[in-house]
Amino acid sequence: STLATMPDIQRAEHILKEVFGFEEFRSLQKDIIQNVLQKRDTLAIMPTGGGKSLCYQIPALLFDGLTIVVSPLISLMKDQVDQLTAYGISASYLNSSLSPQEYEATLDLIRRNKLDLLYLAPETLLKGNVLNLLSGLNVECVAIDEAHCISEWGHDFRPEYRQLSEVTKRFDNAVSLGLTATATPRVQKDIAHSLGLADANTFVASFNRKNLYLDVVSKSSPLQQTVNFLRLHEGDSGIIYCFSRKQVDQLTQDLNANGFNALPYHAGLSEGERTQHQNAFIRDEVDIIVATIAFGMGIDKPDVRFVVHHDMPQNIESYYQQIGRAGRDGLQADCLFLFSYGDASKIRYFIDQKTGEEQRVAEQHLQKLIGYVEAHQCRRIKLLEYFGEHFNEQNCGMCDFCTGDMPEREDITIPVQKFLSTMVRTEQRFGYNHILNILLGSRRKEVLKFNHDRLSTYGIGKEFSRPEWKQVYRELMKQDIIVREFEHKSLKLTPKAMEILKGDQEVFGVIEEPVQKERSKSSAK
Ligand code: ADP
Ligand code: ZN
Repeated sequence: STLATMPDIQRAEHILKEVFGFEEFRSLQKDIIQNVLQKRDTLAIMPTGGGKSLCYQIPALLFDGLTIVVSPLISLMKDQVDQLTAYGISASYLNSSLSPQEYEATLDLIRRNKLDLLYLAPETLLKGNVLNLLSGLNVECVAIDEAHCISEWGHDFRPEYRQLSEVTKRFDNAVSLGLTATATPRVQKDIAHSLGLADANTFVASFNRKNLYLDVVSKSSPLQQTVNFLRLHEGDSGIIYCFSRKQVDQLTQDLNANGFNALPYHAGLSEGERTQHQNAFIRDEVDIIVATIAFGMGIDKPDVRFVVHHDMPQNIESYYQQIGRAGRDGLQADCLFLFSYGDASKIRYFIDQKTGEEQRVAEQHLQKLIGYVEAHQCRRIKLLEYFGEHFNEQNCGMCDFCTGDMPEREDITIPVQKFLSTMVRTEQRFGYNHILNILLGSRRKEVLKFNHDRLSTYGIGKEFSRPEWKQVYRELMKQDIIVREFEHKSLKLTPKAMEILKGDQEVFGVIEEPVQKERSKSSAK
């Protein structure tokens, strides 16, 4: 039978093979494409590398009219269009990177109905002349890539996205397809609502990347920990993420001094240098890229064998995106996250500069990330829970918890509650030693002077020795449950402490036997 007489999905399969050269659809691609071909609005949620592009590229070839692809990633449009052109597909793009001549030439192609696919930056689509031109054409599909940008609940809100639903309404004959790799249930709802996709069919692919080994290690000597890790990955390609440009430069230097082969990548470098470093990485001329979050958007290198978070990522979504750049080829890749509460405080400092809703959302995102780090269970549970997925395998075999590499952290909720309620009962006016004297039932002068031997918490802390209580105290400070007031050295509760006192949150910590032992430095494997 000829292509024209085949049922939709067979035609789609035909194009998959003949044009793109792939044997079969990946999970959900088929359902999504079928749905789009039937002109039913669709929301597609798939992890990075899952194969979202084909979900609009194939329908674009089957529709008579034009498919518009809205994407905020201007730097990636050219790559996509070049790739499509290489497949013999007529595609082009409009954005601010084009010269006036190139821009005009593309408008001309559009006017003459020469294109199957047109990529646009959202702000370009919103321009009067572009919109008027497109409104006069047969637009059959509007694909909105990175659709989470429409939601203030996402990590990448872009105000122009808010106006897109007005725009899509102007194309009567077009089906809308929202696509994103990062959508919590809340963001999903927001996208559907904001894009006017109330009746959209939603397809959510699993976010579990089985081949990524997830490891979170307490950061003690970051350079040494990183070097130890890299020694196990001699010759492999990998990415190391740092907080700031300065740290990127420093770490790159340190690694090269340690005999590794690394290049930096951050916004302080010229565009030429960035491209050069990125290409060197893609072509295996350099093993390691040390980068700020600027690196990795859209790089499609299949054999990245490791991702190290030398510093804390902004939130779970960024973390997931960044580790997602490893192991695209399906082979095992190792993800190491060096965590410290100090890094969390740095991020909190930036959050405190924000205001209102934005601040609240950022704070919540940070809390979720800390929750992930602190959870004493399979790493995949919290990670996937964040994306609305329930992970219930007994043992994933691919995280520090499931392989028994997580240090023993015990539930210290009850001793912590005793400590905190003693602080409450003494009106948060005392320091560590006084609180401890009460808990241990001491008869010292200060205790008696304030009648603190009559408190209900007097002497209820005898399950721990003084050195053990010291470790509890350190955990409290580290985990931002209490803070020490500078002037009077008295201890104060943070909002987190309230949650614990109410019994809404558990606390875990490493409490070692009170023998003065040298802290093991083996750390990161
Ligand atoms: P996303 O946009 O979801 O991050 P892409 O659309 O860029 O992912 O696809 C990721 C990679 O997977 C690309 O190299 C693409 O060619 C490849 N790919 C997509 N669909 C298939 C398929 N059905 N079979 C084989 N490879 C595929
Ligand atoms: Zn696990």
